[in-house]
Amino acid sequence: EAADSLAVTMEGVDKYYGDFHALKSVDLTVRRGEKIVLCGPSGSGKSTLIRCINQLEAVQKGKIVVDGIELTAGPKNVELVRRDVGMVFQQFNLFPHMTVLENCTLAPIKVRGVSKAEAQETARKYLARVRIPEQADKYPAQLSGGQQQRVAIARALCMNPKIMLFDEPTSALDPEMVKEVLDTMIDLAEEGMTMLVVTHEMGFARRVADRVIFMDKGEIVEIAEPATFFDHPREQRTKDFLGQIS
Ligand code: ADP
Ligand code: MG
Repeated sequence: EAADSLAVTMEGVDKYYGDFHALKSVDLTVRRGEKIVLCGPSGSGKSTLIRCINQLEAVQKGKIVVDGIELTAGPKNVELVRRDVGMVFQQFNLFPHMTVLENCTLAPIKVRGVSKAEAQETARKYLARVRIPEQADKYPAQLSGGQQQRVAIARALCMNPKIMLFDEPTSALDPEMVKEVLDTMIDLAEEGMTMLVVTHEMGFARRVADRVIFMDKGEIVEIAEPATFFDHPREQRTKDFLGQIS
């Protein structure tokens, strides 16, 4: 596979927390424009895997390449790569004392050196795209959970990322707000964004994912296209998991 068609490559990645082996020789490629959904039981290493991709966690062994830059080759590369990776967490992690617009313009101004006027114009564009153009001057506490998570998505997009990582983006939301966030993510997918999404929203996975991954105990157990994954899983551990969450 041509290297320049790959957004992420992980080869033989091992991650330990002390003695605990959290990722066991993980191999994974994400192609440009591909959407991957990652699922698995609590504690299986899903968050660890995506946190290793932007080096919120350092790995002990193996190679990680993001957009052609080898992360594991040194701290300078880590800084370069972090700019290209957008991250959305379960807890929205907005700055509470800043308005929505300030949340969205902080990193572009500070990290990318964009002018304030340009950063604000970009932020308003993305706030419109996540369907909350009228919330720019509010503070996070004035918004619903679904709106806050859409601000978090807009904030990530303002850095013009090459790939978006989502770690259970709807798990902290009231049920009536899950759909508005998933709809925003579907929009993003349809625009061609490369996405790696940890979620148990299997309707989303069926509709959007090119491939679905099942992880258990620090290992990738199964990777397949959604039709195969859901209707004809190969591994017993995948079948058991799907039985439990459905
Ligand atoms: P998941 O996201 O699939 O629930 P995690 O990647 O968060 O799983 O965690 C995988 C395993 O690593 C769990 O057993 C968890 O307790 C452990 N773990 C995660 N973060 C740390 C940490 N900072 N220190 C020690 N153990 C951790
Ligand atoms: Mg997790």
